[in-house]
Amino acid sequence: MKITLSNITAYKKWLNKENKPLSLAAKDLAAHAAEINKDVRSFIAIDPDVITNRALSLEKQTKRGSLWGVPVALKDNICIKGGLTTCGSRILEGFRPPYNATVATKLQAAGALLMGRANMDEFAFGSSCETSCYGPTRNPRDLSRIPGGSSGGSCAAVAAAQVVAALGSDTGGSVRQPASLCGVVGLKPTYGRVSRFGLVAFASSLDQIGPVTTNVEDCARMLEVISGHDAKDSTSVDINVPEYTASLERDIKDVTIGIPKEYFTCGISKDVSRRVQEAIKALKGLGAKIVDVSLPHTKYAVSCYYIIAPAEASSNLARYEGVHYGRRSAHAEDLIEMYIASRNEGFGAEAKRRILLGTYALSSGYYDAYYLKAQKVRTKIADDFRAVFTACDCILTPTSPTTAFKIGERIDDPLKMYLSDIFTIPANLAGLPAISVPCGEDKSGLPVGLQFMAGPFKEEMLIRVAHAYERSR
Ligand code: GLN
Repeated sequence: MKITLSNITAYKKWLNKENKPLSLAAKDLAAHAAEINKDVRSFIAIDPDVITNRALSLEKQTKRGSLWGVPVALKDNICIKGGLTTCGSRILEGFRPPYNATVATKLQAAGALLMGRANMDEFAFGSSCETSCYGPTRNPRDLSRIPGGSSGGSCAAVAAAQVVAALGSDTGGSVRQPASLCGVVGLKPTYGRVSRFGLVAFASSLDQIGPVTTNVEDCARMLEVISGHDAKDSTSVDINVPEYTASLERDIKDVTIGIPKEYFTCGISKDVSRRVQEAIKALKGLGAKIVDVSLPHTKYAVSCYYIIAPAEASSNLARYEGVHYGRRSAHAEDLIEMYIASRNEGFGAEAKRRILLGTYALSSGYYDAYYLKAQKVRTKIADDFRAVFTACDCILTPTSPTTAFKIGERIDDPLKMYLSDIFTIPANLAGLPAISVPCGEDKSGLPVGLQFMAGPFKEEMLIRVAHAYERSR
Protein backbone atom coordinates (compact mmCIF):
# COMPACT_ATOMS: atom_id res chain seq x y z
CA MET A 1 0.00 0.00 0.00
CA LYS A 2 1.32 3.42 -0.92
CA ILE A 3 0.86 6.22 1.59
CA THR A 4 1.10 9.79 0.32
CA LEU A 5 2.89 12.04 2.78
CA SER A 6 4.44 14.55 0.38
CA ASN A 7 2.40 17.52 1.69
CA ILE A 8 -0.83 18.32 3.52
CA THR A 9 -3.04 18.62 0.42
CA ALA A 10 -1.79 15.40 -1.16
CA TYR A 11 -2.06 13.55 2.14
CA LYS A 12 -5.65 14.65 2.69
CA LYS A 13 -6.55 13.47 -0.81
CA TRP A 14 -4.99 10.11 -0.02
CA LEU A 15 -6.84 9.87 3.27
CA ASN A 16 -10.14 10.65 1.53
CA LYS A 17 -9.52 8.06 -1.14
CA GLU A 18 -8.62 5.41 1.44
CA ASN A 19 -12.07 6.01 2.86
CA LYS A 20 -11.44 4.28 6.18
CA PRO A 21 -11.58 5.49 9.77
CA LEU A 22 -8.56 7.52 10.83
CA SER A 23 -7.74 4.95 13.51
CA LEU A 24 -7.26 2.29 10.83
CA ALA A 25 -5.24 4.61 8.62
CA ALA A 26 -3.18 5.44 11.72
CA LYS A 27 -2.13 1.81 12.01
CA ASP A 28 -0.77 1.95 8.45
CA LEU A 29 0.94 5.27 9.14
CA ALA A 30 2.60 3.92 12.27
CA ALA A 31 3.83 0.79 10.47
CA HIS A 32 5.14 2.89 7.57
CA ALA A 33 6.99 5.28 9.90
CA ALA A 34 8.44 2.40 11.91
CA GLU A 35 9.77 0.71 8.78
CA ILE A 36 11.65 3.84 7.65
CA ASN A 37 12.81 4.44 11.21
CA LYS A 38 14.98 1.30 11.13
CA ASP A 39 17.40 3.23 8.89
CA VAL A 40 16.81 6.91 9.61
CA ARG A 41 16.11 6.75 13.36
CA SER A 42 14.41 10.12 13.36
CA PHE A 43 11.91 8.94 15.97
CA ILE A 44 13.03 7.93 19.42
CA ALA A 45 10.13 5.52 19.50
CA ILE A 46 6.92 4.87 17.58
CA ASP A 47 4.09 3.39 19.62
CA PRO A 48 1.24 2.17 17.34
CA ASP A 49 -1.19 1.88 20.28
CA VAL A 50 -0.65 5.47 21.38
CA ILE A 51 -1.05 6.67 17.78
CA THR A 52 -4.22 4.63 17.29
CA ASN A 53 -5.71 5.98 20.52
CA ARG A 54 -4.96 9.53 19.47
CA ALA A 55 -6.59 8.82 16.11
CA LEU A 56 -9.66 7.44 17.89
CA SER A 57 -10.06 10.63 19.88
CA LEU A 58 -9.65 12.69 16.68
CA GLU A 59 -12.43 10.65 15.11
CA LYS A 60 -14.71 12.01 17.83
CA GLN A 61 -13.90 15.67 17.03
CA THR A 62 -17.07 17.14 15.61
CA LYS A 63 -15.42 20.25 14.21
CA ARG A 64 -12.54 19.23 11.98
CA GLY A 65 -9.63 21.65 12.10
CA SER A 66 -7.20 22.55 9.31
CA LEU A 67 -4.80 19.74 10.21
CA TRP A 68 -7.35 17.02 10.81
CA GLY A 69 -5.67 13.61 10.60
CA VAL A 70 -2.33 15.02 9.47
CA PRO A 71 0.59 13.05 10.97
CA VAL A 72 3.00 15.35 12.78
CA ALA A 73 6.21 14.69 14.76
CA LEU A 74 7.15 16.70 17.85
CA LYS A 75 10.71 17.28 18.94
CA ASP A 76 11.50 15.50 22.20
CA ASN A 77 11.70 18.80 24.13
CA ILE A 78 8.02 19.73 23.59
CA CYS A 79 5.87 18.44 26.45
CA ILE A 80 2.94 16.13 25.82
CA LYS A 81 0.83 15.39 28.88
CA GLY A 82 1.59 11.88 30.07
CA GLY A 83 3.93 11.17 27.12
CA LEU A 84 7.66 10.62 27.53
CA THR A 85 9.59 13.87 27.04
CA THR A 86 13.32 13.44 27.52
CA CYS A 87 15.20 16.05 25.44
CA GLY A 88 17.39 13.21 24.18
CA SER A 89 18.94 13.07 27.65
CA ARG A 90 19.50 10.32 30.15
CA ILE A 91 18.80 12.78 32.94
CA LEU A 92 15.14 12.97 31.89
CA GLU A 93 14.81 9.20 31.59
CA GLY A 94 11.19 8.23 32.23
CA PHE A 95 9.96 11.83 32.59
CA ARG A 96 6.29 12.26 31.72
CA PRO A 97 5.11 15.88 31.93
CA PRO A 98 1.85 16.53 33.77
CA TYR A 99 0.77 19.07 31.14
CA ASN A 100 0.81 19.79 27.41
CA ALA A 101 2.94 22.42 25.72
CA THR A 102 0.64 25.09 24.29
CA VAL A 103 1.72 24.14 20.75
CA ALA A 104 0.77 20.51 21.40
CA THR A 105 -2.70 21.57 22.59
CA LYS A 106 -3.09 23.82 19.54
CA LEU A 107 -2.03 21.07 17.13
CA GLN A 108 -4.42 18.60 18.73
CA ALA A 109 -7.25 21.12 18.58
CA ALA A 110 -6.52 21.57 14.86
CA GLY A 111 -6.80 17.79 14.46
CA ALA A 112 -3.13 16.86 13.99
CA LEU A 113 -2.22 13.24 14.66
CA LEU A 114 0.82 13.35 16.94
CA MET A 115 3.03 10.45 15.86
CA GLY A 116 5.73 10.51 18.52
CA ARG A 117 8.96 12.00 19.73
CA ALA A 118 11.55 13.17 17.22
CA ASN A 119 15.19 12.66 18.14
CA MET A 120 17.38 15.68 18.91
CA ASP A 121 20.76 16.70 20.21
CA GLU A 122 20.74 16.45 23.99
CA PHE A 123 18.83 19.49 25.33
CA ALA A 124 19.12 20.95 21.80
CA PHE A 125 22.89 21.47 22.15
CA GLY A 126 24.29 20.66 18.74
CA SER A 127 24.17 20.93 14.98
CA SER A 128 24.27 17.27 13.99
CA CYS A 129 21.78 15.26 16.05
CA GLU A 130 24.64 13.10 17.30
CA THR A 131 24.60 14.01 21.00
CA SER A 132 21.27 12.34 21.80
CA CYS A 133 21.47 9.56 24.39
CA TYR A 134 19.50 7.45 21.88
CA GLY A 135 22.24 7.67 19.26
CA PRO A 136 22.39 9.67 16.04
CA THR A 137 19.66 10.28 13.48
CA ARG A 138 20.73 9.78 9.88
CA ASN A 139 20.15 12.04 6.91
CA PRO A 140 17.52 10.38 4.67
CA ARG A 141 19.32 11.72 1.60
CA ASP A 142 22.54 9.89 2.56
CA LEU A 143 22.50 7.61 5.59
CA SER A 144 26.23 8.07 6.24
CA ARG A 145 25.63 11.77 6.94
CA ILE A 146 24.14 13.81 9.75
CA PRO A 147 20.70 15.41 9.27
CA GLY A 148 21.82 18.61 11.00
CA GLY A 149 20.68 19.64 14.44
CA SER A 150 19.45 20.01 16.92
CA SER A 151 15.98 19.33 15.41
CA GLY A 152 17.54 16.61 13.23
CA GLY A 153 14.82 14.08 14.04
CA SER A 154 12.01 16.49 13.11
CA CYS A 155 13.62 17.40 9.78
CA ALA A 156 14.68 13.85 8.88
CA ALA A 157 11.15 12.58 9.65
CA VAL A 158 9.66 15.10 7.20
CA ALA A 159 12.37 14.51 4.58
CA ALA A 160 11.91 10.73 4.82
CA ALA A 161 8.09 11.11 4.54
CA GLN A 162 7.42 9.45 7.88
CA VAL A 163 5.18 12.42 8.67
CA VAL A 164 3.82 15.37 6.70
CA ALA A 165 5.07 18.02 9.12
CA ALA A 166 6.96 18.44 12.37
CA LEU A 167 7.80 20.95 15.06
CA GLY A 168 11.34 21.74 16.12
CA SER A 169 12.88 24.39 18.33
CA ASP A 170 15.36 27.00 17.19
CA THR A 171 17.74 28.70 19.63
CA GLY A 172 20.61 29.32 17.24
CA GLY A 173 19.45 27.66 14.03
CA SER A 174 18.12 24.31 15.14
CA VAL A 175 15.09 24.35 12.85
CA ARG A 176 16.67 26.06 9.85
CA GLN A 177 20.05 24.33 9.68
CA PRO A 178 18.70 20.74 9.71
CA ALA A 179 15.89 21.79 7.34
CA SER A 180 18.55 23.03 4.96
CA LEU A 181 20.66 19.86 5.26
CA CYS A 182 17.65 17.56 4.79
CA GLY A 183 16.13 19.51 1.87
CA VAL A 184 12.93 20.67 3.60
CA VAL A 185 11.41 23.98 4.72
CA GLY A 186 12.00 25.24 8.29
CA LEU A 187 10.89 28.49 9.90
CA LYS A 188 11.94 30.21 13.10
CA PRO A 189 9.23 32.68 14.11
CA THR A 190 9.85 36.10 15.69
CA TYR A 191 10.68 35.78 19.39
CA GLY A 192 7.27 36.00 21.06
CA ARG A 193 5.21 34.85 18.07
CA VAL A 194 4.77 31.26 19.32
CA SER A 195 4.27 30.28 22.95
CA ARG A 196 7.22 28.61 24.63
CA PHE A 197 5.03 27.19 27.38
CA GLY A 198 5.90 23.51 27.68
CA LEU A 199 9.05 23.79 25.59
CA VAL A 200 11.89 22.59 27.81
CA ALA A 201 14.06 25.68 28.16
CA PHE A 202 17.55 25.84 26.65
CA ALA A 203 18.22 29.59 26.41
CA SER A 204 14.98 31.35 27.28
CA SER A 205 15.78 34.65 25.56
CA LEU A 206 16.51 32.88 22.25
CA ASP A 207 14.26 29.78 22.04
CA GLN A 208 11.36 29.64 19.58
CA ILE A 209 9.32 26.68 18.33
CA GLY A 210 9.02 26.48 14.55
CA PRO A 211 7.43 24.31 11.83
CA VAL A 212 9.21 21.89 9.48
CA THR A 213 7.40 20.96 6.25
CA THR A 214 8.08 19.91 2.67
CA ASN A 215 6.83 23.18 1.20
CA VAL A 216 6.15 26.81 2.08
CA GLU A 217 2.38 26.49 1.91
CA ASP A 218 2.34 23.82 4.63
CA CYS A 219 4.75 25.94 6.66
CA ALA A 220 2.22 28.80 6.52
CA ARG A 221 -0.58 26.46 7.59
CA MET A 222 1.39 25.12 10.53
CA LEU A 223 2.42 28.62 11.61
CA GLU A 224 -1.21 29.74 11.57
CA VAL A 225 -2.07 26.96 13.99
CA ILE A 226 0.78 27.37 16.48
CA SER A 227 1.09 31.19 16.61
CA GLY A 228 -0.54 33.57 19.02
CA HIS A 229 -0.50 35.07 22.46
CA ASP A 230 -0.50 32.74 25.45
CA ALA A 231 -1.02 33.96 29.00
CA LYS A 232 1.18 31.07 30.14
CA ASP A 233 4.24 32.53 28.37
CA SER A 234 4.97 36.08 29.52
CA THR A 235 7.25 36.65 26.50
CA SER A 236 4.57 35.76 23.97
CA VAL A 237 3.29 38.89 22.28
CA ASP A 238 -0.35 39.89 22.14
CA ILE A 239 -0.76 40.92 18.53
CA ASN A 240 -2.99 39.67 15.78
CA VAL A 241 -1.98 36.47 13.93
CA PRO A 242 -2.32 37.10 10.20
CA GLU A 243 -3.71 34.50 7.85
CA TYR A 244 -0.31 33.43 6.56
CA THR A 245 -1.72 31.31 3.74
CA ALA A 246 -3.33 34.45 2.29
CA SER A 247 0.05 35.94 1.39
CA LEU A 248 1.18 32.91 -0.60
CA GLU A 249 -0.08 33.98 -3.98
CA ARG A 250 1.12 37.58 -4.02
CA ASP A 251 4.01 38.42 -6.33
CA ILE A 252 7.24 39.97 -5.08
CA LYS A 253 7.66 42.85 -7.54
CA ASP A 254 7.43 45.37 -4.69
CA VAL A 255 9.98 43.56 -2.51
CA THR A 256 13.56 44.69 -1.90
CA ILE A 257 15.96 41.94 -0.87
CA GLY A 258 19.24 42.80 0.86
CA ILE A 259 22.38 40.70 0.35
CA PRO A 260 24.75 41.15 3.31
CA LYS A 261 28.36 40.91 2.16
CA GLU A 262 29.45 39.52 5.55
CA TYR A 263 27.60 36.27 4.84
CA PHE A 264 29.52 35.39 1.70
CA THR A 265 33.05 35.19 3.05
CA CYS A 266 33.42 32.86 5.99
CA GLY A 267 34.05 29.20 5.13
CA ILE A 268 31.21 28.91 2.67
CA SER A 269 31.50 26.00 0.22
CA LYS A 270 31.69 26.65 -3.54
CA ASP A 271 28.55 24.67 -4.29
CA VAL A 272 26.52 26.48 -1.62
CA SER A 273 27.73 29.83 -2.92
CA ARG A 274 26.86 28.88 -6.51
CA ARG A 275 23.33 27.76 -5.63
CA VAL A 276 22.68 30.93 -3.64
CA GLN A 277 23.93 33.13 -6.49
CA GLU A 278 21.53 31.30 -8.82
CA ALA A 279 18.72 31.95 -6.36
CA ILE A 280 19.52 35.66 -6.34
CA LYS A 281 19.24 35.65 -10.13
CA ALA A 282 15.92 33.81 -9.96
CA LEU A 283 14.53 36.34 -7.49
CA LYS A 284 15.62 39.19 -9.75
CA GLY A 285 13.76 37.43 -12.54
CA LEU A 286 10.63 37.45 -10.37
CA GLY A 287 10.85 41.23 -10.16
CA ALA A 288 12.40 41.65 -6.71
CA LYS A 289 14.89 44.45 -6.27
CA ILE A 290 18.28 43.23 -5.04
CA VAL A 291 20.52 45.56 -3.01
CA ASP A 292 23.83 45.13 -1.19
CA VAL A 293 23.68 45.67 2.55
CA SER A 294 26.10 45.40 5.44
CA LEU A 295 25.71 43.85 8.89
CA PRO A 296 29.12 44.76 10.31
CA HIS A 297 28.79 43.00 13.68
CA THR A 298 28.04 39.61 12.13
CA LYS A 299 31.57 38.43 12.85
CA TYR A 300 30.90 38.56 16.60
CA ALA A 301 27.63 36.63 16.47
CA VAL A 302 28.99 33.12 17.13
CA SER A 303 31.19 34.24 20.05
CA CYS A 304 28.38 36.30 21.49
CA TYR A 305 25.92 33.40 21.18
CA TYR A 306 28.33 30.95 22.83
CA ILE A 307 28.42 33.15 25.92
CA ILE A 308 24.72 33.99 26.17
CA ALA A 309 23.24 30.61 25.21
CA PRO A 310 25.39 28.50 27.59
CA ALA A 311 24.91 31.10 30.37
CA GLU A 312 21.14 30.74 30.12
CA ALA A 313 21.44 26.98 29.66
CA SER A 314 23.58 26.55 32.78
CA SER A 315 20.92 28.35 34.76
CA ASN A 316 18.00 26.47 33.14
CA LEU A 317 19.67 23.09 33.63
CA ALA A 318 20.27 23.65 37.34
CA ARG A 319 16.80 22.16 37.97
CA TYR A 320 17.92 18.66 37.00
CA GLU A 321 19.30 17.41 40.29
CA GLY A 322 17.74 14.00 40.63
CA VAL A 323 14.85 15.18 42.80
CA HIS A 324 12.29 16.98 40.67
CA TYR A 325 12.65 15.34 37.28
CA GLY A 326 13.78 12.13 35.69
CA ARG A 327 16.78 10.12 36.72
CA ARG A 328 18.28 9.80 40.19
CA SER A 329 21.63 8.15 40.79
CA ALA A 330 21.62 5.01 42.87
CA HIS A 331 25.25 5.55 43.82
CA ALA A 332 25.20 8.19 46.53
CA GLU A 333 25.47 8.27 50.30
CA ASP A 334 24.07 11.73 50.99
CA LEU A 335 22.12 14.52 49.33
CA ILE A 336 25.05 16.46 47.85
CA GLU A 337 26.63 13.29 46.52
CA MET A 338 23.26 12.39 45.00
CA TYR A 339 23.03 15.74 43.18
CA ILE A 340 26.53 15.36 41.84
CA ALA A 341 26.21 11.72 40.81
CA SER A 342 22.78 12.26 39.19
CA ARG A 343 24.09 15.14 37.11
CA ASN A 344 27.33 13.38 36.30
CA GLU A 345 25.59 10.20 35.13
CA GLY A 346 22.65 11.98 33.50
CA PHE A 347 24.28 14.64 31.30
CA GLY A 348 26.34 13.86 28.21
CA ALA A 349 29.66 15.48 27.31
CA GLU A 350 28.26 18.42 25.30
CA ALA A 351 25.72 19.29 28.00
CA LYS A 352 28.51 19.30 30.57
CA ARG A 353 30.63 21.53 28.34
CA ARG A 354 27.75 24.03 28.02
CA ILE A 355 27.11 24.04 31.78
CA LEU A 356 30.80 24.69 32.45
CA LEU A 357 31.04 27.44 29.83
CA GLY A 358 27.87 29.12 31.06
CA THR A 359 28.67 28.90 34.74
CA TYR A 360 32.09 30.38 34.07
CA ALA A 361 30.67 33.26 32.03
CA LEU A 362 28.22 34.08 34.84
CA SER A 363 30.62 33.70 37.75
CA SER A 364 31.53 36.66 39.86
CA GLY A 365 34.59 38.43 38.50
CA TYR A 366 33.91 37.17 34.94
CA TYR A 367 30.29 38.29 34.54
CA ASP A 368 31.20 41.79 33.32
CA ALA A 369 33.97 40.59 31.05
CA TYR A 370 31.90 37.88 29.35
CA TYR A 371 28.15 37.91 29.93
CA LEU A 372 27.62 41.65 30.12
CA LYS A 373 29.94 42.27 27.17
CA ALA A 374 28.09 39.65 25.12
CA GLN A 375 24.77 41.36 25.92
CA LYS A 376 26.17 44.65 24.61
CA VAL A 377 27.36 42.96 21.42
CA ARG A 378 23.90 41.40 21.07
CA THR A 379 22.41 44.90 21.07
CA LYS A 380 24.87 45.97 18.34
CA ILE A 381 23.87 42.99 16.22
CA ALA A 382 20.18 43.84 16.63
CA ASP A 383 20.94 47.49 15.74
CA ASP A 384 22.63 46.35 12.50
CA PHE A 385 19.41 44.62 11.46
CA ARG A 386 17.24 47.59 12.42
CA ALA A 387 19.37 49.83 10.22
CA VAL A 388 19.35 47.44 7.28
CA PHE A 389 15.57 46.99 7.37
CA THR A 390 15.14 50.66 6.56
CA ALA A 391 16.70 49.87 3.17
CA CYS A 392 15.20 46.45 2.37
CA ASP A 393 12.23 44.21 3.25
CA CYS A 394 14.14 41.03 3.78
CA ILE A 395 17.66 39.65 3.78
CA LEU A 396 18.91 36.66 1.83
CA THR A 397 21.82 34.42 2.91
CA PRO A 398 22.82 30.77 2.73
CA THR A 399 21.33 28.82 5.67
CA SER A 400 24.45 26.78 6.31
CA PRO A 401 28.00 27.26 4.99
CA THR A 402 28.19 23.61 3.86
CA THR A 403 25.91 20.71 3.02
CA ALA A 404 25.48 17.69 5.35
CA PHE A 405 28.74 16.36 6.72
CA LYS A 406 29.61 12.77 7.64
CA ILE A 407 28.51 11.28 10.95
CA GLY A 408 31.45 11.65 13.34
CA GLU A 409 33.24 14.27 11.25
CA ARG A 410 32.86 17.22 13.65
CA ILE A 411 31.86 15.58 16.90
CA ASP A 412 35.33 15.91 18.46
CA ASP A 413 35.83 19.48 17.30
CA PRO A 414 33.32 21.73 19.09
CA LEU A 415 34.56 24.86 17.37
CA LYS A 416 33.96 23.40 13.92
CA MET A 417 30.55 22.20 15.05
CA TYR A 418 29.67 25.65 16.45
CA LEU A 419 30.57 27.30 13.14
CA SER A 420 27.80 25.30 11.42
CA ASP A 421 25.39 27.94 12.75
CA ILE A 422 27.27 31.05 11.73
CA PHE A 423 24.46 32.20 9.40
CA THR A 424 21.50 31.25 11.58
CA ILE A 425 22.55 32.56 15.01
CA PRO A 426 22.16 36.31 14.26
CA ALA A 427 18.37 36.02 13.76
CA ASN A 428 18.04 34.47 17.22
CA LEU A 429 20.19 37.13 18.85
CA ALA A 430 18.05 39.82 17.22
CA GLY A 431 14.76 37.96 17.82
CA LEU A 432 13.90 38.04 14.10
CA PRO A 433 11.90 35.59 11.98
CA ALA A 434 13.80 33.54 9.41
CA ILE A 435 13.01 30.73 6.99
CA SER A 436 15.12 28.14 5.19
CA VAL A 437 13.93 26.83 1.81
CA PRO A 438 15.60 24.27 -0.46
CA CYS A 439 17.64 25.80 -3.30
CA GLY A 440 19.12 22.92 -5.22
CA GLU A 441 21.90 20.48 -4.54
CA ASP A 442 25.67 20.25 -4.36
CA LYS A 443 27.81 18.04 -6.63
CA SER A 444 27.02 14.95 -4.54
CA GLY A 445 23.29 15.58 -4.68
CA LEU A 446 23.03 16.89 -1.11
CA PRO A 447 20.49 19.65 -0.45
CA VAL A 448 21.45 23.31 -0.12
CA GLY A 449 19.25 25.74 1.83
CA LEU A 450 18.50 29.41 1.27
CA GLN A 451 17.68 31.64 4.24
CA PHE A 452 15.45 34.72 4.30
CA MET A 453 15.27 36.95 7.38
CA ALA A 454 12.81 39.81 7.97
CA GLY A 455 11.89 42.40 10.58
CA PRO A 456 9.97 41.45 13.74
CA PHE A 457 6.56 39.84 13.05
CA LYS A 458 7.12 40.00 9.29
CA GLU A 459 6.60 36.25 8.81
CA GLU A 460 4.12 37.06 6.02
CA MET A 461 6.94 38.66 4.04
CA LEU A 462 9.13 35.56 4.50
CA ILE A 463 6.34 33.26 3.40
CA ARG A 464 5.52 35.37 0.38
CA VAL A 465 9.12 35.62 -0.84
CA ALA A 466 9.98 32.00 -0.04
CA HIS A 467 6.84 30.77 -1.79
CA ALA A 468 7.49 32.86 -4.90
CA TYR A 469 11.03 31.49 -5.03
CA GLU A 470 9.90 27.90 -4.43
CA ARG A 471 7.36 28.14 -7.23
CA SER A 472 9.93 29.52 -9.66
CA ARG A 473 12.09 26.41 -9.28
N1 GLN B 1 23.64 24.49 17.14
C1 GLN B 1 23.38 25.54 18.07
C2 GLN B 1 23.81 25.13 19.45
O1 GLN B 1 24.31 24.05 19.58
C3 GLN B 1 21.93 25.89 18.01
C4 GLN B 1 21.08 24.94 18.75
C5 GLN B 1 19.63 25.27 18.73
O2 GLN B 1 19.17 26.13 17.98
N2 GLN B 1 18.93 24.64 19.61
O3 GLN B 1 23.66 25.83 20.39
